[in-house]
Amino acid sequence: MNNRSGGIVSTVLFAAMCLAAAGSPVQAAEKANLILVNGKVVTVDDRFSVAQGVAIRGQRVVAVGRNGDVLEWQGSGTRIIDLKKRTVIPGLIDNHAHFIRAPEHDEMRLDGVTSRKRVLAMLIESVRGARPGDWIVTLGGWSEDQFSDDPRGFSREELDRIAPENPVVLQAVYSRSYLNTAALKAAGIDANTLDPRGGRIEKDPGGIPTGVVSGAGGVAFVAARIPLPVDQEHWIENVRRFVAGLNAVGITAWYDAGGRGVSEKHYEAYQALADRGELNARAFWTTIRQPATLEQVDKVVVEIQHHTPFQGSDYFDNIGWGESVYAPATTNLLRNDFVVRPEDMRQVRRIAYAVAEGGMFLNAHVEMDNAIDAYLEEYEAINKVEPIKGLHWAFSHLDQVSDAQLERMKRLGMVAGLHGRPLIQGAEMHKVHGERAWDMPPFRRVQASGIVWGLGSDATAVAPANPFYTLWFAVTGRMIGGRKVNRQTVSREDALIAYTRSNARFVFQESNLGSIQPGRYADLLVLDRDYLRVPSDQIKDIKPLMTLVGGKIVYEAK
Ligand SMILES: [Zn+2]
Repeated sequence: MNNRSGGIVSTVLFAAMCLAAAGSPVQAAEKANLILVNGKVVTVDDRFSVAQGVAIRGQRVVAVGRNGDVLEWQGSGTRIIDLKKRTVIPGLIDNHAHFIRAPEHDEMRLDGVTSRKRVLAMLIESVRGARPGDWIVTLGGWSEDQFSDDPRGFSREELDRIAPENPVVLQAVYSRSYLNTAALKAAGIDANTLDPRGGRIEKDPGGIPTGVVSGAGGVAFVAARIPLPVDQEHWIENVRRFVAGLNAVGITAWYDAGGRGVSEKHYEAYQALADRGELNARAFWTTIRQPATLEQVDKVVVEIQHHTPFQGSDYFDNIGWGESVYAPATTNLLRNDFVVRPEDMRQVRRIAYAVAEGGMFLNAHVEMDNAIDAYLEEYEAINKVEPIKGLHWAFSHLDQVSDAQLERMKRLGMVAGLHGRPLIQGAEMHKVHGERAWDMPPFRRVQASGIVWGLGSDATAVAPANPFYTLWFAVTGRMIGGRKVNRQTVSREDALIAYTRSNARFVFQESNLGSIQPGRYADLLVLDRDYLRVPSDQIKDIKPLMTLVGGKIVYEAK
């Protein structure tokens, strides 16, 4: 005890001596490691102020302001970067992604590729770099509608010609997978294979699989047959490469919703990289269970009672419970026939009540108007017994949310997560929902309501991961390939706030992330063009020249 208080006293004395000796406003020991000057720093602080420079010490921002202000932090070891008028924005935070699952395979991604011809050229390139037998896969993130030269899928014969010895699976959204003969063989799919639940193995008149497997169940059936990495180091390398790809498009943090097929192994690969201090983006995730029966709910409720979130770091942490609450009470964006059943909502209430009782965060996947009402009714009932205001509960997607529902969410202290899924699904959504699809999701309505709302992708299967595509979609209402599908567009400033400062709240990092301000982590992007001035159609083409996470340069354009 004595030693401890003595230690504090001498530290205080030492600090006082340093202060007395100091001539300059900034202590030598407190100089910046890195200063960015001569730029247009869009801070996304509460006033949306724009500065010229940023000074960074260690992991955090120490000063933002005019060139002269930030240069006061210059010491002999400080690196100075002249931004040459380039624009800087906070690192982008995706409020809904499945990036923990994604690196299970090193995919050939088709995000944003608008030419079918180009896809074939990419496939030829991939085959050239592969050994015979290596799988070449793309598990979503694109749709046939995005090809402006030839909007259709791929035939088995066509894929066989390019890849006779490599299994190829090209999965469009969650709707269809295109397989070549080698993939059908390796996956054990032949004339005798029965259709999986919720899916169809298309066959020719002779009963031979054509290579097209359709439906969400069919897509999942194929994906489950692609072998996972056997060796943990291989998996960790996939994570490293995947995160480098996120850094290159400007993502520095995200909320991870888990997803189909996600297992302990997926989390372990990330945890291993975080433990080594080599995870170059921040992942905040919720535990996902997808109970579908009463017995499974019983188990999940006990699990929730023993769950302890927030035991990790600011790079990798569990923040609560979520996404799919109860499988039978889950909507699907590409269907409009969801029926609310009281017995299912009773199970939703049991799970949500357990989460409220534990004082934890809950995110629920809710898309359609009737489902939003049904969930709100349960939450309002729970709130009377176990208040949830203050727990930041979130609804994900909210494609059909109304003004009245937004008011009810605000009263419960909830936040709204909206996503750019029409980027590749917009045309399909118009077929399913007709006129209504123009307002799905209703960005402008949500913005006008005053609720805290954030923007995210829902990548990697049902949307592409590039956040500049999602920003572009929220501003223009256009899908990849150019077709206009949404009329609820917002300003680029509001879209940027939704992708940064507001999303920091989703992941309980509002004092650390989301804006460029003293005291916050130095997570930021230097852009190749001005997000605020570039013609709106070019927002999707913006690329980071440099990405910093926690003051460390994790990406630099070549
Ligand atoms: Zn969801």
